[in-house]
Amino acid sequence: MSRVYNFSAGPSMLPESVLNQAAAEMLDYQGSGQSVMEMSHRSKVYEPIIYGAMDLFREIMNIPDNYKVIFVQGGASTQFAAIPLNFMNGSGKADFILSGQFSSRAYKEAQKYGEAIAVASSKDDVFCHIPDWDESKFTPDADYFHICMNNTIYGTRFTKLPETGKVPLIADVSSCFLSEPLDVSKFGVLYGGAQKNIAPAGLTVVIAREDLLGNARDITPTMLDYKVMADNDSMYNTPPCYSIYMCKLVLEWIKSLGGLEVMKERNEKKAAVLYDYLDKSELFIAPVLPRDRSMMNVTFKTADDELNKKFVAEAAAAGFVNLKGHRSVGGMRASIYNAMPIEGVEKLAQFMEDFEKKNK
Ligand SMILES: *Cc1c(COP(=O)(O)O)cnc(C)c1O
Repeated sequence: MSRVYNFSAGPSMLPESVLNQAAAEMLDYQGSGQSVMEMSHRSKVYEPIIYGAMDLFREIMNIPDNYKVIFVQGGASTQFAAIPLNFMNGSGKADFILSGQFSSRAYKEAQKYGEAIAVASSKDDVFCHIPDWDESKFTPDADYFHICMNNTIYGTRFTKLPETGKVPLIADVSSCFLSEPLDVSKFGVLYGGAQKNIAPAGLTVVIAREDLLGNARDITPTMLDYKVMADNDSMYNTPPCYSIYMCKLVLEWIKSLGGLEVMKERNEKKAAVLYDYLDKSELFIAPVLPRDRSMMNVTFKTADDELNKKFVAEAAAAGFVNLKGHRSVGGMRASIYNAMPIEGVEKLAQFMEDFEKKNK
């Protein structure tokens, strides 16, 4: 068996030990005579899986008691609608920082439900940095303030948070979930799809401050009402059972390695391998403002589109797959989430160096 190094932005790599455990438990989960895919979500054997995953989330992220961990479906994209439906319930206004495609989509979706206000944007610079903001422009009576913490497509991330006072800060953390410690108490709501750093696609995780729940608009579909989901322990209907099981295994893996401090150390080290090489390369360009470089998605390119294509093809042939950049920006992107081993990144940097020598 030969496994590739998969640099996809998502779905992405899962830890090999987790895949091995899932494989070993596939036909007969802990003597139950069935796979996790087949069992009732309301069975005695499944309960410890979903509650275990929720508890591990709390423990690993150090989530305060006044927050709910909610498992939903529909990906982060569905939450772009669920968030205004649940939280745009006072002034009907919400502030947005536009730092990429996903935050722009969240903003556009919220416009259907109220007054979404773009208080800062880096669109004119093709989102190659996090926009500067002016706190005096924030809407004092906004129902919430929305950001996308890590911009998967462009390879940028927030390194400081906007000061929003008593306006709850809501963050899409799809592509940086569990990559480093995060002070949950600074946020009203955190949310993200699982398929980047947590589990296979299908599961979406919402972490919400309890006092913000329970005021969803009347028209909110029941399935999008976070209070309903929280009150039913995320089992109002059938949850994405298998993805939740994989999530639990991944959380156990993170815990066994030492938690989020260790994840951060590993991720910083991996990102540095690539950025250090890019900074000295005469062939490759890293388009992101160094201050805002993502630790999870490293974007780069050469000055020549044909050469970019050649790089992506030769890299794939050498076992480094999915390095093509997002179609909206071109070039290349190496997504190096938690499960990407350091060897994968070191070998990629070596491959890039060899490619540079041959293509100067
Ligand atoms: C991938 C991604 C999304 C979209 O997620 P889906 O689960 O596919 O809806 C949204 N936001 C960010 C930051 C992402 O990386």
